[in-house]
Amino acid sequence: MRLKEVIEGKIRIFIPDPSEYMREGNFDPAWAPVFYNPKMVFNRDLSVIVVSILKPKIIVDALSATGVRGIRYYIEGWRSEQLILNDKNPKAITLIETNVKNNGIDNAKIYNRDANSLLYEIKSDYVDIDPFGSPSPFILSSISATIRNGVVAFTATDLSPLEGSSVTSCRRKYDAINQKLSSSKEIGLRILIGKIIKESAILEKTVYPLFSFYADYYYRLFLKVESGARKADQNININIKYFGECPRCGFHSFLEDKCDAKCPRCGSNLVIVGPLYSGPLYDTDFVESILQTYTRFNYISSFSRVQKLINLIVGEMRYRNVYYNLSKLASKLKISAIPPIQAVLECLGDASRTHFASNGIKTDKEYEEIVECMRV
Ligand code: SAM
Repeated sequence: MRLKEVIEGKIRIFIPDPSEYMREGNFDPAWAPVFYNPKMVFNRDLSVIVVSILKPKIIVDALSATGVRGIRYYIEGWRSEQLILNDKNPKAITLIETNVKNNGIDNAKIYNRDANSLLYEIKSDYVDIDPFGSPSPFILSSISATIRNGVVAFTATDLSPLEGSSVTSCRRKYDAINQKLSSSKEIGLRILIGKIIKESAILEKTVYPLFSFYADYYYRLFLKVESGARKADQNININIKYFGECPRCGFHSFLEDKCDAKCPRCGSNLVIVGPLYSGPLYDTDFVESILQTYTRFNYISSFSRVQKLINLIVGEMRYRNVYYNLSKLASKLKISAIPPIQAVLECLGDASRTHFASNGIKTDKEYEEIVECMRV
């Protein structure tokens, strides 16, 4: 394998030379013998900031590939007592060993194991799962490895089932009925969190989102793990619900169950998806810590994007309702001239933009008030 040295954040790492893995003129990381995706720098940049706040004792990067993620966590985020890097691909291990050594790390443990079997043998206060596609195969083992009050992080790149395009795949991988809805970008994240809560309950554990977001073609979430059958039951009872959207008038709401429900506004049958998580997507204190911390990372290449995302999330995190997609709502209501989003926000008063969609708004105001503000 021919290698190339690249700089990401504050580290230098060797990756498979991208010029050897071109498809139709573009680098295709999936073709390389060890995976390195430059499009995931934003994901890693934000994760470094999160790790710098968490200050874990043991960092586990269970699906390491080149090791870039775990190495960045250690060098830029937090010098933990131990860094564990793992990948089942032997070619990845050679690269991880080189990259760890070149970055002067001497307390890393490197494993060439199946992540699931490794995770059942270790305990950590920070476990990172960054898989190809769905994180579902690693949920149980990663929750098992994460101690009480520890944090588990997941990336999910399989948006097609989560956003309702692949209905049968969503059923299989997330145990949820799904369909494409106006606010599917948020619904997908909530289905994923719902699945993780239900799986955690098997181990008499539960999870609460600290910080979660949608970007490009993936979801990224950081979840605090708590122990106890009672807490697991409580989280399920309070936060696992269904969600209904009216195909006719665009009204939407969380629902207690999946029985056929009529739209309370126009009487049509709601389209129902779920089960999914209906609770807060952010811990406000944690987001406040990110807000206080991220400016220290002004060297990262995605700094302005990080800043934009954090500011959007600060604005939207106080609303419990799923965002309304103004274009979809206008089309359902046959409003031909949609007012500028800023005008709708000003009309509502208590509302914000959302990072999920540029044409979306978050508000806990009634549906009727939103419609009224769209008609002005
Ligand atoms: N975390 C890396 C980063 O930020 O660049 C990318 C990880 S890549 C998307 C997924 C990695 O998981 C691949 O290197 C693959 O070899 C590894 N992998 C897939 N299934 C695995 C398993 N069951 N056990 C261990 N490694 C696995």
